[in-house]
Amino acid sequence: MLSENLIQINERIASAASRSSRKIDEILLLAVSKAFPAEVLREAVEAGLDTFGENKVQEAIAKIPELPSHLKWHLIGPLQKNKIRKALPCFDLIHSVDSLTTAQQIDRIAAEEGLHPRVLLQINIAADAAKHGFTKTAIHEQFETLLELKRLQIEGVMTIPAFDSDPEKTRPSFANLREVRNELVEEFDCPLPEISMGMSHDFDVAIEEGATIVRVGSALFGKRKSTIR
Ligand SMILES: *Cc1c(COP(=O)(O)O)cnc(C)c1O
Repeated sequence: MLSENLIQINERIASAASRSSRKIDEILLLAVSKAFPAEVLREAVEAGLDTFGENKVQEAIAKIPELPSHLKWHLIGPLQKNKIRKALPCFDLIHSVDSLTTAQQIDRIAAEEGLHPRVLLQINIAADAAKHGFTKTAIHEQFETLLELKRLQIEGVMTIPAFDSDPEKTRPSFANLREVRNELVEEFDCPLPEISMGMSHDFDVAIEEGATIVRVGSALFGKRKSTIR
């Protein structure tokens, strides 16, 4: 049952917050609804959720009109160039700005559309060639250029660490993302309040390491039929 899953997730959030002396209202539970149809999301809305994460623009665009208009939508998957114009008006926050080129393309289209999209910079903490995102070296080198993209409201950072079934193995990556954020804040004197990290099996540890947005799919909705992670 979704509502029972939600109770358990909220308990996990509360205890992780208390272990790390944080307030629960500084942590957003993003319900990752990819691969689930609108009627399942409706159940989640009834259970009290209002912010949903989707990893594909097309899938989100199909669902959004079927659900109440007060909901907020976040994009957590890669944003291809040819989808930017469609995506911008749909998403309240784009977690997945993964390169300077993507950022420049979003900035240009946002200017044409008269929008100021809120975005996070996806950081490839382990410099894993199979993963999207700025490496630590690249983000330091390119951040100044990113700040010149006046249409982008850069609100923070996000990461998808290498999967490990033991959350303690992922803790250093979470701590590392927080450090990168802190270094950027210090070096470039700009606020970066949001840290998006942690999924169903490890969001507790992510909260202990400073996550402000946890992206939770299967713990809430159950297993997805497809293999997309
Ligand atoms: C699917 C997905 C999640 C949620 O994963 P679960 O393990 O189901 O909680 C979180 N973040 C991203 C980027 C995803 O693609």
